[in-house]
Amino acid sequence: MTASVAAGVDELVDRLLEDLPPERTPPQEFLGAQYDRGLAWVHFPTDCGGLGLTPRDQQRVQQRLHAGGAPVAGVKNPIGYGMCAPTIVSHGTDEQKRRYLRPLFTSEEIWCQLFSEPGSGSDVAGLSTRAVLDGDEWVLNGQKVWTTLAHISKFGLLLARTNPDVPKHRGMTAFLIDMTLPGVEVRPLFQITGEAEFNEVFFSDVRMPDAARIGAEGDGWRVAVTTLMNERVSIGGAVTRRGGGPIAEAIRIWKERWSGNTSPQALALRDRLMSSWIRCEVISMTNQRASQQRRSGTPGPEGSVGKLAFAEENQRVYNLCMDLLGNDGMLFPAGYPMIRPDLVGMGSTDPHKMFLRVRANSIEGGTSEVMRNILGERVLGLPGDARSDKDVAWKDVPRS
Ligand SMILES: Cc1cc2nc3c(=O)[nH]c(=O)nc-3n(C[C@H](O)[C@H](O)[C@H](O)COP(=O)(O)OP(=O)(O)OC[C@H]3O[C@@H](n4cnc5c(N)ncnc54)[C@H](O)[C@@H]3O)c2cc1C
Repeated sequence: MTASVAAGVDELVDRLLEDLPPERTPPQEFLGAQYDRGLAWVHFPTDCGGLGLTPRDQQRVQQRLHAGGAPVAGVKNPIGYGMCAPTIVSHGTDEQKRRYLRPLFTSEEIWCQLFSEPGSGSDVAGLSTRAVLDGDEWVLNGQKVWTTLAHISKFGLLLARTNPDVPKHRGMTAFLIDMTLPGVEVRPLFQITGEAEFNEVFFSDVRMPDAARIGAEGDGWRVAVTTLMNERVSIGGAVTRRGGGPIAEAIRIWKERWSGNTSPQALALRDRLMSSWIRCEVISMTNQRASQQRRSGTPGPEGSVGKLAFAEENQRVYNLCMDLLGNDGMLFPAGYPMIRPDLVGMGSTDPHKMFLRVRANSIEGGTSEVMRNILGERVLGLPGDARSDKDVAWKDVPRS
C-alpha cells in the first residue's frame, strides 16, 4: 500500500467511525455501512464490499476499526465471513455477489459449509451426495455431516456429485443452497463439550434452481479449493498480540497458582509455559508474514502450515492449563449443557471447556495428517500421497 492509499483508507475508516459511532450504533447498521464504504474486505472488488486493494491492507483497516471500538465482523458468521464470501467473490456471478455478500457480512444471513459426508471427510472429492438436473432444477439427495452452525444457517455452500462417470475431482458441482427449502433436514450432533455446534444434514428430493449453482457444472473442485484454502487461514491464521490468545490463559493461571513457587514441579511447568509462549509468538509472526506476503485473495499452502501449527499448539497450551489447575482441572464447571449454540466455541474463556473444544482443532478444516501431506507435497516438494483412484470414474471406485 502506498502512503497515499494508506492515508485514503485511514480517512475512510475514521469517517465511518465518526459518522456511525460504534458505541451508539447497532452492530448490524455499522457493519452495513462498513460494507457499503468498501471496508468490509478491502481486497475484494469495489462492488463487493471492497476497494480492490490487497489482503495485507485489510489488516490495517481491522486494526484501526478495532482501536475505534467497531463491532468485529464474522464472529456470528465465521464460515460465511471467512470461507463462503471469498468463494462467492472468486466464482460467483454478479447477481450472486449482489444478493449474498452484504447480508453475509452483517450476519443477517448465517452460512454453513456442506462438504463433509460420512464416507468423505479428508477425501472430500470422493463425496456421494447426488444432484441431478431435471428441467431447469437440480434434484438433491444425500447426507452431509459435521456441518457447523447448519441449525441457524439461511444458506449453505454445498458440494454435490453431478457426474459419476468421470474421475472424482471432475464430476462435482458447487451450489449455494437455501437451507429452508423443503427436503432439507438438520439434526444436532453433540460434541465432547456438551454443545452441538455442528449437525447432520439430510437432503431428500430437494429441488434447487439452476441459479443456485456457483461455478460451471463439473467445476466444483475448483470452487471447493478456494473455500478450503480460506478455511485454513480462517481457522489457523490469526495474528494475536504478544502474549495474547490461548497462552494468555495459561499465563493467568500460572500467575494465580504458581508464581513464586520454586518447587521442581513448578519449575518444570514454567519451562513448558515458556516453550509454549515462544511457539505461540512464532506462529503469530509466521501468520503475520504470510498475510503480508499474500497479494491475491486466495491463500496458498502456507495457510495449511499455519493451521497445523495452530492446532498442535492450542492442544499443548490447554493441556498445560489443565496441569496448572491440578485437581481443579478435572472439574467441568459448565457441565454438559446439551445446547445448540449460536456461536462456535473457540471464543470461550473457560479453560476447561477449551481443553475439550481444542481436541477438534486437529480435525476441523482438514486433519493434521492431511496438513502434513500438503506441507510435504506443496512446500517441501516431496513425492505425492498414493492416489489410486485419480483416473478412475467415480462410480467404479470401490467404496463401502
Ligand atoms: C468441530 C468440527 C467442525 C467441522 N465443521 C465442518 C463444517 O462446517 N463443514 C464440513 O463440511 N465439515 C466440517 N467438519 C469436518 C472435517 O472437515 C472433517 O472431520 C475432516 O476433514 C476429517 O474428515 P473425517 O472426519 O471424515 O476423517 P477421515 O477423513 O475419515 O480421517 C480419519 C483419519 O485418517 C487420517 N487420514 C485420512 N486421509 C489421510 C491421508 N491421505 N494421509 C494420512 N492420513 C489420513 C485422518 O488424518 C484421520 O486421522 C468439521 C469437523 C469438526 C471436528
